Amino acid sequence: MSTITMPHWIDGEEYVEEGVEVLTIDNPATGEIVGGVAEASTELLDRAIASARKAQAVWGRTSLAKRTRVMFNFRQLLIERQDELADIIVREGGKTRGDALGEIARGLEIVEFACGIQNALKGEHTIEAATGVDVHTIRQAVGVVGAIVPFNFPMMVPMWMHPMALATGNAVILKPATPVPTVSLTVAKLYQEAGLPDGLFQVVAGDKQVVTHMLNHPGIDAISFVGSTPVAKIVAAGCAATGKRYQALGGANNHAIVMPDANLDFAAQHIVSGAFGAAGQRCMALPVVVAVGEAHDPLIERVKARAEALKVGPGSDPANELGPVISSKSRERIISWINDAEAKGANVVLDGRTFRPEVDGTDGGYWVGPTIVDNVPLETQLYCEEVFGPVLVVVKADSYEEAIEIVNSGAFGNGSAIFTENGETARRFQLDVQAGMVGINVPIPVPVGYYSFGGWKNSLIGDHKIHGQEGVNFYTRTKVITTRWAGGGSHGKIGLDFVAS
Ligand code: NAD
Repeated sequence: MSTITMPHWIDGEEYVEEGVEVLTIDNPATGEIVGGVAEASTELLDRAIASARKAQAVWGRTSLAKRTRVMFNFRQLLIERQDELADIIVREGGKTRGDALGEIARGLEIVEFACGIQNALKGEHTIEAATGVDVHTIRQAVGVVGAIVPFNFPMMVPMWMHPMALATGNAVILKPATPVPTVSLTVAKLYQEAGLPDGLFQVVAGDKQVVTHMLNHPGIDAISFVGSTPVAKIVAAGCAATGKRYQALGGANNHAIVMPDANLDFAAQHIVSGAFGAAGQRCMALPVVVAVGEAHDPLIERVKARAEALKVGPGSDPANELGPVISSKSRERIISWINDAEAKGANVVLDGRTFRPEVDGTDGGYWVGPTIVDNVPLETQLYCEEVFGPVLVVVKADSYEEAIEIVNSGAFGNGSAIFTENGETARRFQLDVQAGMVGINVPIPVPVGYYSFGGWKNSLIGDHKIHGQEGVNFYTRTKVITTRWAGGGSHGKIGLDFVAS
């Protein structure tokens, strides 16, 4: 099959460079090459940044009415074209159709928030702070924002960033993840159709070289990063060195406690969705369950029965509920961690290591079937690190106290959940747990778009969470303006100017 190398998108046009390195894009369900993505040169990135700066100078002073009208148009186009967008996510990311449409729906929440950005941009105003002296605040755009995103949500994660950044008056340079870049090109075209002036949303593809240049470039004022923790730390250090504002969201290893008083059928249903949805490749996936006391055996039995019933296969069949993982490298790592845990005494209750769907053309795909591993030693990589695959680790605890100690002992603190019917235990858990997003009988507690998303510990480097009011704060800078007119009171002496009189 002939494949096309994805063009970059600069100043409202596709742009192709000659003589640069091209990486292949493959379909994880089949292993077939479906396209290519070029590593942008530093000259191209310079050009994208220079024109973004020019466009932003005008956009930052464009009325809120005009800016939000673009967001309303963009929202409508996303809804009308969601099938086309989902097709690309299925082809390049290997997602099921349900997961692809689901991420577009969750991303839409942020566009909807951006449609009403006026409310979030209102300032404070104090009259008569001193006699005849008033004080107020304004928020202005930061300038040009670099957006660097992971492979696992090619639509939703960028949508945590660009609608917020654009509505608050910034320009955006988006660097998509190399395995799944082309949906970002379609998004750029939708923005143009929605009436966004050229230059404000640039798509510059590539990998480390482009990221490094973005971190060093003085023409980028802020970086929004979502990806693994090691790269989040590189981004944070790079931004600190060059004085850029940054938000850097990292990896995760989310736990749920299941108490003996939980409704176990309900818990099993939701744990299966949390552990195996999107093939476990979510930063809010649920790879670890800590089963307390008597909950353990009946829970495993129920989770196993549901996991075995999942329809696993390529996203080209909309009935499938679980697709492949992103790459052969990822598949090999997941399987080697399961092997290692098994060798150290874990019990593989449901084994997806040799799974292949019975579908023509999928032999070269990166398949791991739903896997449940019980009695996992806490020092194994399978327990301690981010597995990012369709694997559920089960750990047993004798009491709530032991369970919460296990949950809080990990290096990550993105999301965490408890399944219980006891309000007092649930309340205790929400206060005790060291995580940024907490679910009470909700396995994937991703906040709605008007709250902010972000974890604790190694799941968030620095302290800027994403979207909601924290997103508005990140993409804007405040000024405090103190005003006095000659006819008013409060004229101080040299050195004091005015005092609160
Ligand atoms: P990744 O860190 O490998 O890549 C993220 C981005 O960084 C990509 O655009 C990539 O091109 C770039 N990059 C990779 N290595 C780099 C390097 N050495 N220097 C500079 N740039 C580099 O992450 P991934 O594998 O694409 O995505 C999966 C990870 O993202 C998981 O750890 C997952 O938990 C995390 N994630 C976190 C959240 C969150 O909200 N906390 C959301 C989604 C995904």
